[in-house]
Amino acid sequence: MQQSVQPRVRGFICTTAHPTGCAANVQHQIDYVKSHASVTDGPKRVLIIGASTGYGLASRISAAFGCQAATIGVFYERPASGNRTASAGWYNTVALEKAATQEGLYAKSINGDAFSNEIKQQTIDLIKADWDGGIDLVIYSLASPRRIHPDTGEIYNSVLKTIGKPFTDKNIDVFTGQTGEITIEPASQEEINQTVAVMGGEDWGMWLDQLKAAGLLSNGVVTLAYDYVGPAITFPIYHQGTIGQAKADVRKMAKTLAKTLSDINGHAYISVNKAVVTQASSAIPVVPLYISLLFKVMKQQNRHEGCIEQIWRLFSDNLYNGSNIPVDEDGLIRMDDWEMTEDVQAQVANLWQKVNTENINSISDLAGYRHDFYALFGFDNDAIDYQTEVETEQNIPSIKL
Ligand code: NAD
Repeated sequence: MQQSVQPRVRGFICTTAHPTGCAANVQHQIDYVKSHASVTDGPKRVLIIGASTGYGLASRISAAFGCQAATIGVFYERPASGNRTASAGWYNTVALEKAATQEGLYAKSINGDAFSNEIKQQTIDLIKADWDGGIDLVIYSLASPRRIHPDTGEIYNSVLKTIGKPFTDKNIDVFTGQTGEITIEPASQEEINQTVAVMGGEDWGMWLDQLKAAGLLSNGVVTLAYDYVGPAITFPIYHQGTIGQAKADVRKMAKTLAKTLSDINGHAYISVNKAVVTQASSAIPVVPLYISLLFKVMKQQNRHEGCIEQIWRLFSDNLYNGSNIPVDEDGLIRMDDWEMTEDVQAQVANLWQKVNTENINSISDLAGYRHDFYALFGFDNDAIDYQTEVETEQNIPSIKL
């Protein structure tokens, strides 16, 4: 359907997405990766679970356009129907597959619930049919509020809550710039358990177990899941909150997978990434205000990174640097190294004390935050006339509807 598309924001999500804007975002990321030297010993066949937006999309682009890898991306996105636009991740993948085809790169996608046995099996069948060699790299980049357990059918919902006692801190409405306080009640044990069941390591383990059992992992395979730690300001809601418990479980799974994969010389890593604006991070209370201040400081230092800059640095300086993968004393890859420098954190903590509704625009990068938020859905791009009608029904070439 031909229609003009404007942003329609509900709470912390935008229910519309602009196909041309999303394509421009994907092209920008491809151009970024291509303008940096390609790695020479990169992966050849890469599976990305959670491949349509945020860190997973940047991982797919880095593998495909930076390493010339064949990629299969798994995600859960919505095609357009009637006057309802598709979701941003859908349009991102339309653009990604088209660009890959133009460069002679294999890129196919699977849309559906990655937690299910059915989607795992579909992925396995596709790999068996299409790929001659084994998978070199499996990136697990899911962010989901809900999981249906594939064996029991039980439904789990994750919550973003603190643990132990209530937590009160500054918060912001990113659209009005109004700052205030928010109190987050502690989670019950049941809520903690459910959050771990959704965002913990079990599903990552299931993917790798099933891929290994099908004989699809290459000798020396690497698998990676993404994590966040952040500063003391956000500890109660993130690192020491319900999501932090889930991330601790993902770290445990990395250790289990290291054993599972040892007979094929495989490795399982956790990459602790920096805070960026994605659909997942905009849902977390307190974090958007922290990110607005962080961006201000890191842009001043010329060390600002979005998803693609982070992930390309992960690929080129860490995973495929021609030498050992650098890890910290806990075995974690620390892509949040620039965010967590003492200097950056001292400045952010200082701004955190001062920030209020009057000074928010001068001492934070709220404008940059907002731009990034709208850009997630293909909006706020000066090169696009949002009054012009566009075709909103677009097919992902490899997906039959
Ligand atoms: P995102 O919301 O941009 O992406 C989530 C992806 O998961 C999408 O591709 C979506 O389609 C897919 N997905 C969700 N539910 C699914 C399902 N049931 N089946 C198949 N696919 C499904 O999120 P993001 O921020 O890029 O997060 C990815 C990872 O990076 C998470 O582990 C997150 O904790 C981590 N991380 C994020 C940040 C940040 O600041 N955003 C920082 C550090 C680490």
